[in-house]
Amino acid sequence: MKIMMQKKDQQNTKKDSAAAICPECGKETDKTVKNVCPECFGKKLKLFELPEVLHARVCPQCGAHYHKSKWEDLGTPDEVAALTAEKNLFIPDEIENVTVGMHPHARSPYIYDVLVDIEGDVDGVTYYQNGKVEVRIKREACEMCSRRAGGYFEGIIQLRANNRIPSKEEVTDCLNLVEESMMTQLKKGDKLAFVTDTITFKDGADVYIGSAKAGRHVCKHIIEMRGGTVAESFTLAGMKDGKEVYRTTFAMKLPEFKKGDVVYFEEKVIEIKNCGKRVTGINLMNSSNFFIDSEHFKNTKLLGNTADAKETVLVSVEKNGIQILDPETFETITIQKPMGFNALPGIEIKVFKTAYGIFAL
Ligand SMILES: [Zn+2]
Ligand SMILES: [Zn+2]
Repeated sequence: MKIMMQKKDQQNTKKDSAAAICPECGKETDKTVKNVCPECFGKKLKLFELPEVLHARVCPQCGAHYHKSKWEDLGTPDEVAALTAEKNLFIPDEIENVTVGMHPHARSPYIYDVLVDIEGDVDGVTYYQNGKVEVRIKREACEMCSRRAGGYFEGIIQLRANNRIPSKEEVTDCLNLVEESMMTQLKKGDKLAFVTDTITFKDGADVYIGSAKAGRHVCKHIIEMRGGTVAESFTLAGMKDGKEVYRTTFAMKLPEFKKGDVVYFEEKVIEIKNCGKRVTGINLMNSSNFFIDSEHFKNTKLLGNTADAKETVLVSVEKNGIQILDPETFETITIQKPMGFNALPGIEIKVFKTAYGIFAL
């Protein structure tokens, strides 16, 4: 161990200017520390105590570190090694103005050398010492990762669509949203925010999830992005440590209609804008706004989607109607003029042809 010494407080030194003889080395000294000269004191001084070898437990899956009888996220293995050394460092009370430096170096992924620099004052004289500790990292699955590996789940998200079968793309998109939202919850500290299992079938998918709380966020996220509804129910799954354990089922339903779907309903042709608990859209027959509670939106007929609208030439604009070429027969026909319509004749406009007429979009 290297020992350095320097005189710090010049004024203090001057005050004690009555020179003394050091009883250890016999040299004359201006300043004494605990009755001997600073050099002799420094030779005996132990600024700190630290074991030669320390052990730490780190989860290889998630990087959590076992600390104070629980698993915590404490950063990189470097940081875990430095923290382990710091926790086991003992500095006597008589040392004042202590500064500690920790420098971890990986010897292998499991063994770290942590170099320790300590500076501190005794009776106004600053001493510096350094040392080294070996931190051995044991890789051990944390409680959460063990649960995950054991197929633990608190809830099931039943992903379906209302009155129809969702497309494969929709299901894939929703499963991506589940992953995205779970990752956010995991980063926010919900260590059970993981997907245990996903089973896809014709009607949709069942997603088994570690955290019911995260499941709630996931459903909210899907509804925000794609609309739809969710209903929660609980079932008793058993007993654990004398407590009842419940599982949550999230019955998630994607909306029956997508944005842009054109639907025939009660002698109206509706272009859907949003389809959640409430359906909103535009009645293409008179350009009026349409809204209704989804439970009353029944006996509907899907006519298509505005994504399939055809372009055609606008022939002329009259007071109440517009003349266009029928996109299929190319005959000139007059159709309803949409509200706020301000296109000029000769350009191409988008129209949607149905059994109930042709509508300009
Ligand atoms: Zn001495
Ligand atoms: Zn873990």
